[in-house]
Amino acid sequence: MGQDNSVVSDDTAPVTLRERSLDAVADHIQAGGAKNVLVMTGAGISTAAGIPDFRSKDTGLYANLARLNLPYAEAVFDIGYFRDHPEPFYILAQELYPGKFYPTISHVFIALLAAKGLLFHLFTQNIDTLERRAGVPGDKIVEAHGSFATQRCIDCKTPYPDDKMHEHVLAGNVPRCEECNGLVKPDIVFFGEALPDEFREKAHYAAAADLVLIMGTSLSVHPFAGLPGMIREGVPRVLFNMERVGGLGARSDDVLELGDCDAGIRKLADKLGWRDELESKWRELVGEEEAERQLKGAKVREVALEDEVDKLADEVEDALKIRDGADQADSDAGNAAQTGQTPEVKDAAREDTTRDSEPEPVNPIESIPGNSAPVPPPPGIKEPPASPTDESDRQLAGEDTTQTGNLHKVVSNTSEAADDTWVSGLLARKNS
Ligand SMILES: [Zn+2]
Repeated sequence: MGQDNSVVSDDTAPVTLRERSLDAVADHIQAGGAKNVLVMTGAGISTAAGIPDFRSKDTGLYANLARLNLPYAEAVFDIGYFRDHPEPFYILAQELYPGKFYPTISHVFIALLAAKGLLFHLFTQNIDTLERRAGVPGDKIVEAHGSFATQRCIDCKTPYPDDKMHEHVLAGNVPRCEECNGLVKPDIVFFGEALPDEFREKAHYAAAADLVLIMGTSLSVHPFAGLPGMIREGVPRVLFNMERVGGLGARSDDVLELGDCDAGIRKLADKLGWRDELESKWRELVGEEEAERQLKGAKVREVALEDEVDKLADEVEDALKIRDGADQADSDAGNAAQTGQTPEVKDAAREDTTRDSEPEPVNPIESIPGNSAPVPPPPGIKEPPASPTDESDRQLAGEDTTQTGNLHKVVSNTSEAADDTWVSGLLARKNS
């Protein structure tokens, strides 16, 4: 997959940035070094918007879906299941339908990049259309997993009117095609469906970017997750996410801003001198009440996170104590066997095993046919970008699969905190 799990060593000097930091990224932008910024987004940028996670047992949504006896949670996005049982999806759609949620500061930052003429393209995995709502121009957005913006019949493919769709969704009714009485579905990608042509046609734009901002995505869903690998060497790639993902950090000009996505974006805006403009643009868009709600939510998440980390730290300490005790008992018993491993080393080894054996995304969907047709160069680029590499071809040919369930995964702090890699970083922070 071309993903390197190692982090570039401190001895390796960056090629483009003066150092691997947000300060340097801001300086690079200010100096005019980045005029074609590619942004990639995932569920993490919509966390503050409050979009419910249908897999979280804490939400009423989960309880509603549970009553419908779904064979598994993701079945709600399975095209085969939908054909026989469209009702669960429409219960979910009622909750998730655009218009109920407001953009976050991260969404508005992307719109600000566009307003400043720096946004090249935005590739999003989200179907919530909050980027559009934040003011990112439609022609700059590639909705890799489709969106709720349009809908059509799953049989004869006739588009269905927006106003009727709106009525049906709000009423929780299943809309039917006016031509053939087939089921109508929003143009979001379900398991068992190919990604939109637009994604396949534009994925190679990644090779023309001169700066990449990757925001709030676990990069676990291919072919989307293959995009950072298509970025040219020496082009700075900045990750704003709770944890390190997708091999980011392995290249000389990778910058990792780990933590809450909105917080990282505010930091970059500060360094760029855009913070006031960003905040007022956001408040104007969402209103004071929503702005305060999101900010309060961020505080709650922060506190919950600290609690969780403390709890986990205690558990790890307890586990280490138990193991120390066991090791001591072994020694006392005169066991001369030398393992040469301290508990810490064992832990590290165990972590690596965990990482290596991470499960592949579940519910593979149909692969995307390879695109052999010539693709036009992206607009606004003087030099045509490099043609897709073998690697990108392979990824775009759908060797891997997408996981639509992730589209709705608003990462809860608890589930994030349960991640080994991320926890070890926090433990280090807590213990320092
Ligand atoms: Zn039809």
